[in-house]
Amino acid sequence: MTITTYNNPLLAGVIGNPISHSKSPKLHNYWLNKYGINGYYIPIAVHSNKLKPTIDSLVTLGFRGINVTMPHKSSVLTLADTITDRASIIGAANTLYFSTSGKVTADNTDGYGFLKNIYHHFKNWNPKAGDAVVFGAGGAAKAIVYALLAEGVPRVKILNRTKIKATLIADHFGNKVEVFDWYSYGEALDGAKTIVNTTSLGMVNQPQFQPNFETVSTNALVTDLVYNPLETEFLRMAKQSGCQTVDGLGMLLFQAELGFSNWFNLKPEINNELRSYMLNKND
Ligand code: NAP
Repeated sequence: MTITTYNNPLLAGVIGNPISHSKSPKLHNYWLNKYGINGYYIPIAVHSNKLKPTIDSLVTLGFRGINVTMPHKSSVLTLADTITDRASIIGAANTLYFSTSGKVTADNTDGYGFLKNIYHHFKNWNPKAGDAVVFGAGGAAKAIVYALLAEGVPRVKILNRTKIKATLIADHFGNKVEVFDWYSYGEALDGAKTIVNTTSLGMVNQPQFQPNFETVSTNALVTDLVYNPLETEFLRMAKQSGCQTVDGLGMLLFQAELGFSNWFNLKPEINNELRSYMLNKND
């Protein structure tokens, strides 16, 4: 009889509710296998009223840390011992690091992933070249506005179907963020240099998002957070108008890089093989 021994595997995971849709286990377990690390990355469904005991238990069990997804991204901040500046400003965390002494640090790597994805595709992107337009004011939008401003974009114009949510983000970040009506996108896009879709429009089973890019200069950079499908109508139309485009898959990969590096002491590689693996429904 063969007895398999499990020699103190390193542990990390993702908590949320629901959690079955998360792509993070596929991604992190790919890296663990690729680098021969004795570890596991586990999806854990956690109800809001069990958030604190779950995090306490994971710390006690020796987890290196976890990713956090909806609906816990804001509430985990109240349970952390330390909060990074960016997580504090954004008001949400997507990554927790657990120290060996049991201290919890909350971080938000969405903006990092967003920017790294753009630079990965377009090294010469100049955020200071002109205004940015952000469509959407949901959970992801705040991290994007934060990242754009931190990178030196002079002004962010934000548009959301439910205007009050855009106004709340503008109030949070101050006078460099200006709110436009959802249907005033022609005016907002005029002269914009960086354009971001953070709405869920364009995702499979969602309506398409097809603003007119006529007033946008041809060297503008257009990116979509949606990555399923990889080329949304939004990106297709932008490309047709001569803009440079970046799909959303890289943001998903780069936001995960920091958590993996911290938990497993190894910076994982992000390349085309990984992109294909993540897009392959059979893996
Ligand atoms: P969310 O909090 O649910 O926000 C959804 C946003 O989409 C809101 O601004 C909402 O407007 C807008 N929206 C939805 N249906 C609409 C419609 N029919 N017409 C106009 N606007 C509509 O979601 P989220 O967490 O911010 O995520 C948004 C998208 O980004 C999702 O597709 C998600 O998968 C993607 N995402 C990708 C990454 C990545 O790593 N690539 C990371 C995070 C998120 P209202 O406020 O008016 O409802």
